[in-house]
Amino acid sequence: MFRSAIWLALTLVSLSVADMTSAQDLVLSNATIIDGTGAPPRAGVSIIIRNGKIAEIAEGARTGDTTIDLKGRFVLPGLIDAHTHILSADAAERALLSGVTTARVPGDRYLRGMGTRDLIRGGHVRGPELLCAGGIVRPVLGEFFILPFPEFGRYLNERLSGSENVSAVVRALLDRGVDLIKVGASERAGLATTDPRRQELTEEEIEAAVREAATEGKFVAAHAHAEVGAEGAVRAGVRSIEHGTYMNDRTLALMKEKGTYLVPTLAIMSPLGDPRTDDANDIALRIRTWHMQTALREVVKKAHRMGIAIAASTDGSYGDGNDTARVRLQHDMEELVSIGMTPLEAITAATATGADLLGISDRTGRISVGLEADLIVLDRDPLKDFRVIYEPLVIVNNGEVVLNRYYPNPYDER
Ligand SMILES: [Zn+2]
Repeated sequence: MFRSAIWLALTLVSLSVADMTSAQDLVLSNATIIDGTGAPPRAGVSIIIRNGKIAEIAEGARTGDTTIDLKGRFVLPGLIDAHTHILSADAAERALLSGVTTARVPGDRYLRGMGTRDLIRGGHVRGPELLCAGGIVRPVLGEFFILPFPEFGRYLNERLSGSENVSAVVRALLDRGVDLIKVGASERAGLATTDPRRQELTEEEIEAAVREAATEGKFVAAHAHAEVGAEGAVRAGVRSIEHGTYMNDRTLALMKEKGTYLVPTLAIMSPLGDPRTDDANDIALRIRTWHMQTALREVVKKAHRMGIAIAASTDGSYGDGNDTARVRLQHDMEELVSIGMTPLEAITAATATGADLLGISDRTGRISVGLEADLIVLDRDPLKDFRVIYEPLVIVNNGEVVLNRYYPNPYDER
């Protein structure tokens, strides 16, 4: 009697749990899946979404509590922008509504990206999941780095150098809760007085940063245009090279050997990235872009031929009216196709490769059972008409439909 009472109680509990979960089912029915792995499209399947995750991928049409009958339309993983500077709630929402469900923010001002990340995590703001580096660790930190870290006030007047000092700055960032570390291995491109071919932190200093970050299982991304800066950073064990404009073949070979990712930020180097304003720094950058873009395209072509993992990114802000605000991840995907990727490879660069780079492929970046339901729906086959990627009809973020501009087309039935 006692036993059967327990059995009955357990049955009731499991029944009610089953009822609750099925009550939350969202089904994308009759879809064609491009799963992010590079596998060919798979038609005639349904994605069953429960508790924010992909619960099942079933053959044929299915129904749930909410069913979207896609009539064969294409479902891709939500896009991953591997290098963006989303620093506000507005920008985060704009990124999400362009199809980006995850983004890495390597470089911050006044920790605004971190604040935006935490507002999204707290459910106060709609946006992609953000992984943030805080400010960039480089010889000249700048006021926007130092203001939230007044203990480093001396670096307003001094250059940051020496492995111990670099480690201390990295430690402070880790203690503040960053998701990764970004170091400057060569100077910035976008200022009239800087030279992108000049090295910043030394190999030893970057090695110290990599070691410190590793104590918390965090990766280091290196901003590097310069030949020597990039090579030192790769040898020092960074996870990724950002830009990589003037990298030589030896560095590329080393990246291949060590599994270092390349985040080339091609779109921002295109005429699209040309600043609108006429201030001196913007003009300097615009003129440089004419040289840098050509050099970078050659590097990316080689890297792709060598099989180096390349992740798509904007290096843009998704902001309102500033220089880089116009770039969307789709622009970079199209640039990657123009340097020799197939459309399918460019989709992988903007999904699975991004997740691998960020170390979160156990959660997102592919369409696979158990992963977060981060998905976008496209009207047509992007392998035949790539520009359809610019217009996601439905965007699902952690199982929540954040955009739905899809309606059954009466012509579908004919
Ligand atoms: Zn950047």
